[in-house]
Amino acid sequence: MIYADIELKINSQKGNEILLLKRQSKNDYKKTILTIGVFHGDEPDGEYLISRYLQDRTETSNRLLFIPCLNPDGKEIQTRKNINGVDLNRNFPTKNWIKVSQSDDYYGGEKPASEIETQFLVYVIEKYKPDLILSIHEPYKVVNYDGPAENIAEDISKITGYKIEKNIGYPTPGSFGTYCGVERNIPTITLELPEKEDKELLWHTNKDIFTYIQDY
Ligand SMILES: [Zn+2]
Repeated sequence: MIYADIELKINSQKGNEILLLKRQSKNDYKKTILTIGVFHGDEPDGEYLISRYLQDRTETSNRLLFIPCLNPDGKEIQTRKNINGVDLNRNFPTKNWIKVSQSDDYYGGEKPASEIETQFLVYVIEKYKPDLILSIHEPYKVVNYDGPAENIAEDISKITGYKIEKNIGYPTPGSFGTYCGVERNIPTITLELPEKEDKELLWHTNKDIFTYIQDY
């Protein structure tokens, strides 16, 4: 049982559902916070944490939005990229988007926002205008941020014990962090979970992030 409303639902190319879930306790919510899991199909633990959080009914003064699994086709075949071999985290319509070879690990598509998953996320951001975005990846065990999110990154780092990295150390044209954080000034946290962590430990380490966003 999941205590959240289905706000939007689309089908991926392979017919898998991509959901936008909403948890909101009051009509006059304070802020909108968007949390995203499974950007990369071989990084399933964000969906695990979101689903586990939503199994309990809790009050929030904010409007909490969740995309538990952005890339269900990639998850199905356990690959980082989507079904078209595109790294969704390089497919955003940023000023620095570049076309690279299809064989590249970070192939960002034939053109910016060519992929339905990217289009969906761009639509959600334009429609709901989140005040804070949390994107959950693996396996670097760090808190990375883009845009005006340094204080939030410090809070998340205190909760998890994962250290902060301003950026991951290589250029990321067309990345989600560049799209939201750098170009739109939305505080954007990229939470990199540890690799293949025990699920109970993972939940225990990260559960207070959800308490944090409930009243952020
Ligand atoms: Zn990732």
